[in-house]
Amino acid sequence: MNEPTNESQPTPNQTQPTQTNQHKPALAGMCQVCGGECNLRNTMCDKCEAGIRGWLRDYPSRIHALREFLDSTAHYGGHQPGRTNLASAPTPVRLSVIDHLQEIDDLAVALWRRLYAPPAMPWADSRIHPSVLKCLSICADCNHLSRLPDIGLIWCDWERVVRKTLGIIDVPPSRHGIGRCLNPLCGVELSAEVGAVSVDCPVCGNAYRVVDVRLGFLRECIESGRAFTAGECAELLRECGFQCNANTIRSWRKRGRLQPAGENDKGRPLYRLSDVHRQVLRRDSI
Ligand SMILES: [Zn+2]
Ligand SMILES: [Zn+2]
Repeated sequence: MNEPTNESQPTPNQTQPTQTNQHKPALAGMCQVCGGECNLRNTMCDKCEAGIRGWLRDYPSRIHALREFLDSTAHYGGHQPGRTNLASAPTPVRLSVIDHLQEIDDLAVALWRRLYAPPAMPWADSRIHPSVLKCLSICADCNHLSRLPDIGLIWCDWERVVRKTLGIIDVPPSRHGIGRCLNPLCGVELSAEVGAVSVDCPVCGNAYRVVDVRLGFLRECIESGRAFTAGECAELLRECGFQCNANTIRSWRKRGRLQPAGENDKGRPLYRLSDVHRQVLRRDSI
């Protein structure tokens, strides 16, 4: 026969100040983020702590990268001559990036306030706080960060924001346009990952060496009189096996051997690839 027990009915005199319960893990010693074990004095385990401190330390450079993406025409592969533009118009990232930068600012200031300005303090609501970069570095080094009772929620907020940031600045290794399919009946624009050696045409199925496609593109640009910046000309020519660098092209201009054919929207001079190619051949034949 089992004796009736009173285990589930707490008697008022026996309530413990810490409210620990045998059936649930005590909050002390448990990471509020991952639920793993942690130092009794902390609310985060070492791994989660290293995670959030790393995010805070990385943010200044990420904010810098995000600011570059304020320009709605910026996208990776933009320096590649002959890159293929996406079928859709350039994404107007500008507004969403501004919003996201604001979101990071707000989160950094909120964390700084959480650590250094408890709401009970009269100046907590004032708008005076260090700069965002300062907030980030102060918080990253704050000992109290790993003892906040609500670090679980704060950690999740930062994780979400970091994921969003990386979604904006960490564009996957872009496939860039390399030229047209060499099959005269096909001729679609081919793209390959940077550094790829061979490429398959998705339309006609032929396989090519990237260098051959680049040569085809070079020839096409020479014939059509297309113009590029000195850096872009040099890059394309190098890819096709010529020795050429941007400074050489600029020095040819200074010596009057080369005339720019215009300039791009940033005011950089553009050179006809045919002109640059002619100079390269002339130099190499001497
Ligand atoms: Zn953890
Ligand atoms: Zn093809």
